[in-house]
Amino acid sequence: MNLFDPLIEKNGGNKLFLLGNEAIVRGLIEEGVGYASTYPGTPSSEIGDVLYQVHEKAGIKFEFSVNEKVAVESAFAAAISGVRSFVFMKHVGMNVASDPMMSIAYTGTRAGMVIMTADDPSMFSSQNEQDNRNYARLAHLPVVEPSNPQECKDFLKYAFELSEKYSIPVIFRTTTRVSHQRGMVLLSQAADIKNRGYFQSNKKQFNALPVNSRRLKVELLKKMELIEKEGDSSPLNYEIEGDSSLGIITSGISYTYLQDLKSDYNLSLNILKLSLTNPIPVEKVAEFLRRHKETIVVEELDPVMENDIIRIAQENRIETTIHGKNTGELPAYYELNEDVIVSAILPLLDITPPEDKSFKDTLPQRPPVLCPGCPHRSVYYSVKRALKLSNIKDAIFSSDIGCYSLGIYEPYETSDLILSMGSSEGLANGFSKVTDQPVIAFIGDSTFFHSGIPPLINAIHNGNSYKLIILDNSTTAMTGHQPNPGIADPVNGFNEVNIEEVVKSIGVKDLVTVNSFDVGQVLRSVTGALKRKGVSVIVARGECAILSDRRAKKNGTLKLYEVDQTKCSKCMNCVENFSCPALYVNEGEITINTTLCDGCGVCAEIYVCPYQAIKVVNHEI
Ligand code: SF4
Ligand code: SF4
Repeated sequence: MNLFDPLIEKNGGNKLFLLGNEAIVRGLIEEGVGYASTYPGTPSSEIGDVLYQVHEKAGIKFEFSVNEKVAVESAFAAAISGVRSFVFMKHVGMNVASDPMMSIAYTGTRAGMVIMTADDPSMFSSQNEQDNRNYARLAHLPVVEPSNPQECKDFLKYAFELSEKYSIPVIFRTTTRVSHQRGMVLLSQAADIKNRGYFQSNKKQFNALPVNSRRLKVELLKKMELIEKEGDSSPLNYEIEGDSSLGIITSGISYTYLQDLKSDYNLSLNILKLSLTNPIPVEKVAEFLRRHKETIVVEELDPVMENDIIRIAQENRIETTIHGKNTGELPAYYELNEDVIVSAILPLLDITPPEDKSFKDTLPQRPPVLCPGCPHRSVYYSVKRALKLSNIKDAIFSSDIGCYSLGIYEPYETSDLILSMGSSEGLANGFSKVTDQPVIAFIGDSTFFHSGIPPLINAIHNGNSYKLIILDNSTTAMTGHQPNPGIADPVNGFNEVNIEEVVKSIGVKDLVTVNSFDVGQVLRSVTGALKRKGVSVIVARGECAILSDRRAKKNGTLKLYEVDQTKCSKCMNCVENFSCPALYVNEGEITINTTLCDGCGVCAEIYVCPYQAIKVVNHEI
């Protein structure tokens, strides 16, 4: 029995203690969704991990797509073939998906199609904190925003029904604390899952040519007008009556913080909770504003609803003061929490906020580090040595999205820039055109497939020159070890797309594959490549330490290392320059923490320990 089997049971009535993302999977089962696709990204990753476990038993066609654009296009094809589809991604994934999404908004859909974005306020694992509700306004698509695990499941029902009623894709927006919040979820009866469809051609609808799109744009705006009216009576938008003179309009996780505020301060608050937030329900909001001399809009990130609400007040000549981000009570950055909401709302209720006694600023900083046994560490160490040997001091390190971005920290410092998926190579193209500096681009295997191939084609076509190191750890590690096209898995029906074959087919002549854990081999290949002009590609292959460690522990083949104190000169190279977290100084002696040691053996290589003081443990510990 699989851990997630209770999620796919047919009957309703049970209660499960679920993560928001797990509740979403249950919602898909209950709504009979036949197709789902994604490119993994935190905070949406758990949906894919759970679907991967249950999709076959549940009868859902599911795939980890090569990137979000392909994921959206695949899900769209399913929906217009009559199969309900769900595509999900982290917020920056929507940048990649937005190209087809803008056109899909025009063409509309047949079976329901829901596009989920998991936004990451405070950037816990992202390069920015863009508010994807803005995409909905740009594309003219409705937005549904749950605030807890029960709503994550239940609101999918409304999203699919809305999508089918108006033949329009619906954006389902969570944030980190909604996706990662755990709570009791009451299950409903699961629908029969339909995963086979038939595509009936309709050339005037599905060809996004100007002649069709001009008509479809007008139809799209009419659909949104109708949905706006529907929002006024939708069960997703409702009022919680209290006895405060202050009105509060909110959505998503902010509503949960307000619940805490109410119970912690024993307040009775008038709250308008909106969950169908685009288009905003104009009549409902106007009616709420008329009853309150002062209203505060509590939402995370941009003042998206707040700006709509200010417009509604102005257009309806409602005399009210609207507080929020535009007036400075709430910040337009980072996630909200109860402390932030307390200091915004209590003064408006003439209550003095309590003194801030939080101790979070006094906690020590713990920067993230590459794991012990990580293959990227030995590559970075080798590259730094190669540059030193080649007497190069001004190399540009162009890095990318993945756990290898941790190379930014000392002692490696192998990241001058990180922007977006595949940007390591895009930037390398530009640097090679306008500088004479050596450019070294690092990209992971999954990121290479996602968006690293077109810039490599660009480099060959335009005769640009850079060194590309593809860090192939044979997994999509940072988001939880999802598969990627470089991995063969016949049991699960995955065929391997070989990185070297792809690189060769683009026309790269200077290509070598090395073992990431072999410092000498990496060192020689990088030193050689630095002497040559043009594009050089080094595929540095070494399994992710978490996977190799897990397997070695299971098989009983884990090797551990120790320092022979009689040979150790205390040169400190292993600690200061190689810097595996398992190596530390204990009472003046270099020591290996055998609980942390992954047994990769790199520290024992002569390039790391010139005195050969590190050796395999061959006794009981
Ligand atoms: S063998 Fe050395 S480098 Fe590898 S994990 Fe253990 S201490 Fe770290
Ligand atoms: S590199 Fe070798 S000799 Fe130098 S401190 Fe580490 S264990 Fe000792």
